[in-house]
Amino acid sequence: MPKKKITKKKIIKTKKMGARAKTVKQAVLPLAPAIPPKPPEVPQAPRGMRDILPADEHLWHAVKKEAEELSNGFGYGFIETPILEHKALFARAVGTVTDIVQKEMYCFKDQGGDELCLRPEATAAVARAYVNHGMLNLPQPVKLWYLGPFFRRERPQAGRFRQFHQWGLEALGDSHPVLDAETISIALAFFRDLELPVKLEINSIGCSQCRASYKNELVKFYTPKQELLCDACKMRLQINPLRLLDCKEAQCELLREGAPQITDFLCEACRDHFMHVLEYLDEAGVSYNLNPYIVRGLDYYNRTVFEIFPVASDDGKQKTEDRTEGEHGGEKKEAELNEDEENPSPVLNLLSSGAQSALGGGGRYDGLIEQLGGRSTPAVGFSLGLERIISYMRSRGFSPVSGRLPRIFIAQLGDAARRKALLLWHELRKEVPAVASLSKDGLKAQLEIANRLQVRYAIIIGQKEILDKTAIIRDMEAGIQEVVDYNKIVGEIKKKLAGDA
Ligand SMILES: [Zn+2]
Ligand SMILES: [Zn+2]
Repeated sequence: MPKKKITKKKIIKTKKMGARAKTVKQAVLPLAPAIPPKPPEVPQAPRGMRDILPADEHLWHAVKKEAEELSNGFGYGFIETPILEHKALFARAVGTVTDIVQKEMYCFKDQGGDELCLRPEATAAVARAYVNHGMLNLPQPVKLWYLGPFFRRERPQAGRFRQFHQWGLEALGDSHPVLDAETISIALAFFRDLELPVKLEINSIGCSQCRASYKNELVKFYTPKQELLCDACKMRLQINPLRLLDCKEAQCELLREGAPQITDFLCEACRDHFMHVLEYLDEAGVSYNLNPYIVRGLDYYNRTVFEIFPVASDDGKQKTEDRTEGEHGGEKKEAELNEDEENPSPVLNLLSSGAQSALGGGGRYDGLIEQLGGRSTPAVGFSLGLERIISYMRSRGFSPVSGRLPRIFIAQLGDAARRKALLLWHELRKEVPAVASLSKDGLKAQLEIANRLQVRYAIIIGQKEILDKTAIIRDMEAGIQEVVDYNKIVGEIKKKLAGDA
């Protein structure tokens, strides 16, 4: 667009008109006060979504590093699938009657008319990629890991976000029960390494054959009592009776006490598979609770399913003896935790809200790839919710900044020093992370910032130091300064920091 030519003459004319208009207005409404236009409000982040700030960097770094080290350490290859997928992928994989697909997906039609959704979980997309890239021709099982953001429009509540991050592993192309135990043991190693006490709740939901007879039994059991169920469960009874077992409503929890248990209905092959998984876990020293109410919300699971829960710090020493067949394995601790109502931290809410509090979970999904249109391919995996884990870490006293504070500040005086400082910063950061406020002029202002950042040493360069080819190292705690040869700064700083450690 061509720029409008503004001439001096025009400006004068406009001014004159403005002046006249004002005069007229004043004549009509002599007492009207001038209302200043309201500045527009700064938009907030969408509800249930949030910014991750540098104050939490240390925690995010710790979980991401641990996830990456474990994934690589066990030979899993990194995969990153798109944030957007076709809606049909999740509808087919996750199941059309699940809460996720019915209510929680962010979906839209793009300009080309494609129905796309923000990914609510990873497994369906990883399975899609496995088929798309012909990974079934690779040596099986194919082992993949991912870490990234996922999206579900859930009811906002403590510890739940609409954009959240997950780390997960998938082992595709093998039905051996040792893989179930392998992935579970890696998930638990994550918590062990981060010194977070957790408990593993495990169950088998059988295969499509044995599950069908179990579902019949469930329907038989619940139908005469259906008036006592919550509204959601009345629906579930019609379309997905398994989900009756993990309802959190008090009346439904009470009813399920007498419900038949899936483990009594497993076919021989499923029972055998489950027994082997438990044996491998025993061998690996992994403790677990058998929990017949773990069903996982997604349609694609079969056989092994499991969830991992935080535990209060004093019952972190979970023993294998805890492995009761009973349905109350997890319940007792929950009741104890509820007594601690004086401390309503989000994590305690997590701890006391039953199955909703899981830090992660997973299981086998032998039918998923076939369901997507691929060849029948058994697979197993898990995913962990990083926001909840970080909130759990914080509740256990992980300092959000410890160890991540910069130790060195570069201060400069004068423009020549400013230029030198930028160069020095680049040399230094290869060895030690450093900070600086190059835009500041006064030394006092810069050292105040250095103090606020609690750095250990400041390097000061001024006009004189540039001429002498030196720099000053100031010990910020002792207030002592020494002059060092400019070319030796990096070495000197490294020596000092090593001496402190
Ligand atoms: Zn079976
Ligand atoms: Zn219910």
